[in-house]
Amino acid sequence: MATENTITRTETPLTITVIGAGILGLWQALTLARVGHHVRLVEKSSVPFADSASRYAGTMLAPGCESEHAPEIRDFGAHGLTLWRATYPRLVNAGSLVVAAARDSAEATRFARATSPPQTLDADGLAELEPDLGGRFAQAFYFPDEAHMTTPDALVFLLDAARMAGVAVELGAAWTSPSASDVVIDCRGMASASELPALRGVRGERLVIKTREIRLSRPVRLLHPRHPLYVVPWTSGRYLVGATVIESEDTGPITVRSALELLGTAYALHPAFAEAQILETGAGIRPAFPDNLPHAEIRDGGRHIFVNGAYRHGFLLAPVLAEAVAAHLANQTPHPLLVTSEPLARRPHSV
Ligand SMILES: Cc1cc2nc3c(=O)[nH]c(=O)nc-3n(C[C@H](O)[C@H](O)[C@H](O)COP(=O)(O)OP(=O)(O)OC[C@H]3O[C@@H](n4cnc5c(N)ncnc54)[C@H](O)[C@@H]3O)c2cc1C
Repeated sequence: MATENTITRTETPLTITVIGAGILGLWQALTLARVGHHVRLVEKSSVPFADSASRYAGTMLAPGCESEHAPEIRDFGAHGLTLWRATYPRLVNAGSLVVAAARDSAEATRFARATSPPQTLDADGLAELEPDLGGRFAQAFYFPDEAHMTTPDALVFLLDAARMAGVAVELGAAWTSPSASDVVIDCRGMASASELPALRGVRGERLVIKTREIRLSRPVRLLHPRHPLYVVPWTSGRYLVGATVIESEDTGPITVRSALELLGTAYALHPAFAEAQILETGAGIRPAFPDNLPHAEIRDGGRHIFVNGAYRHGFLLAPVLAEAVAAHLANQTPHPLLVTSEPLARRPHSV
């Protein structure tokens, strides 16, 4: 796995249409424009991000913690972090913490076995990092190299960065048919399901709350056998509390059961969360393939590339997928996240 961006500027620019301005489409458009391609980004919603799953994300960049779900995430995610650090100045590089109530020590043992945390802190070590959690947990796992951000700010930043890199952004424009571009990169999320039969949706509910009664500097995950939860500190005293993982494509509002579970677990993390104001609730559908890893699938001789299936890792892996597609268009070595049912497509000729 490369550890830095190895894609150089193209000498033969292509015209590229990227469909969908969620996190995957934004990173594709930005990366491909920065290497010199002529990029158009088409988004059906006239209000940026209004119809995207990306707006609901907690935006933790946590390859170590998330390797609990798939070991491959660790290496791909570490590279994703490197690319975010090179691009987004407001990334908060404060690491992440994982705690468990004493009665859930079996969960802590299972998590540690699955993820090999770089550091285990005792109660004093935890209090040093997060004074407001002092005395609440006997131990914590610390992943110092992880990062997080405030979701709406990061999405707006990327859209602006894409425009500044020369991307022609078309909002309120639903893509329906083949385009005259050399390459179409399809990042429509769940809207691509009819063409990607293996794609399924995994519902994630979350709340945004606000309080000045407690101060956290980094995401904290509370392990639990049924209701694991994380709290991500956003700017201005806001916290994202998430997230359910439900095998359902129901796009309806958060249920009472899920709200009770999430808020109850936040209260278990610290009772001061009881005084927080609920600013926002919402549910997004995470597009996922059966292995829960994203793919860039090349079709039509390389003219149509589906980038999808980011599951819980859209923010973490979007830059890696963008780099993989840019490398493919530059005829570089195939990337493990690229798949094709045809003989490996070569770079299409400009028309
Ligand atoms: C509650 C929750 C918490 C999460 N937390 C994290 C996290 O901490 N870290 C992380 O890395 N990931 C996280 N994720 C996962 C991440 O949000 C997803 O993987 C990611 O949003 C998927 O992005 P996407 O670009 O594929 O899809 P989307 O964000 O849904 O974007 C698709 C876009 O395509 C547009 N579109 C659809 N059809 C058309 C058309 N015909 N023409 C033009 N445009 C079209 C849509 O309007 C939409 O804007 C979380 C997800 C949820 C739900």
